[in-house]
Amino acid sequence: MAQLREGRPMTSGPDEIQPIALQRPSQLVAAELRQRILRGEWRDGATLPPASVLAQRLGISQHHLREALRLLEHDGLIRVEPGRNGGISLAIPDEEAVTRILEGILARYGTLMTDMSVARGVIDEAVAGLAAERATADDLAMLEAIVEREQTRGWGQTPCTEFHLSVARATHNQPLLTVVQATWPIGAGWGEKIPAKLDAIRREPSRGRETVQAHLDLVEAITARDSPRARDLMRQHHAAIFASYEPALRGLRVGRSAGEMASG
Ligand SMILES: [Zn+2]
Repeated sequence: MAQLREGRPMTSGPDEIQPIALQRPSQLVAAELRQRILRGEWRDGATLPPASVLAQRLGISQHHLREALRLLEHDGLIRVEPGRNGGISLAIPDEEAVTRILEGILARYGTLMTDMSVARGVIDEAVAGLAAERATADDLAMLEAIVEREQTRGWGQTPCTEFHLSVARATHNQPLLTVVQATWPIGAGWGEKIPAKLDAIRREPSRGRETVQAHLDLVEAITARDSPRARDLMRQHHAAIFASYEPALRGLRVGRSAGEMASG
C-alpha cells in the first residue's frame, strides 16, 4: 500500500486547484443535436422549422441554436441551407466531404503522392481479400461487365477507378467502402491539368493491356473465392502501377495543383 502512495499526493494544496472546464451552452446543444442526427432522427434533406420556432421547441435561445448549428457545420456533420419557408435544411455530408477534409489534413502534413499510392495499395489488398469472401453473384456479374468493357473499348479515360470501386462495393463493408471512396479521388483533382508525364504513362497501350489483364485475373480469383490469391494479385497490380508512375509522382505532394507543381 505504501508504494501506491508514492508519486502524486492524495490531496492537492489550494495552490494546485485546477479550473473546472464548463462547456458552453452552445456546445451542449451541439452535442445533443449531434446525437439526434447520428441516431437518424434527422435525415439528409430533412427540413427543420425556422430557427425561432426550433429554438423555442428545444427550450434554448436562438443565439445558442445558431452557434450550435455552426459548430456542427464546422465539424462537417451538416450543411445548413435556408429552407423554402424559412426552415433549416440539413444536408449530411457524403464521401466528397470526407475527401476534402482528408486532403486538407494530408496537405498540411506535406504528404507525398507516393505515400498516397502506398496507402491505396495496402487498403486495396485488404479489399480484394474480403471481396473474394463476400462478393455476391450480382457483384461478380458487375465486375465481369466492367472488365469486358475495358477489353473492348480499349484504354479509357478513367483507368482503374470504376473497377476498384466495384471491388470495394463487393466487400459489403461500409467503413472499408467509405475509406476507398474517400481516398481514391485524392490527386485526381488535377483534372485536365494532370501532369503531362503522368498522362503519358496513363495512355501507354502496354500499361492498358497489363491493367486489363490484372483486372481479369482478379475477377477470376474473386469468383473462385480465393482470398489469398486475390490479395496477392491486388498487391502485384498496385506494385506494377507504382513502378510505372513512381518516377512521375516523385516529389509531388497531396493538395498541390499541377500548375504549382510545374513551377516547382
Ligand atoms: Zn486497376
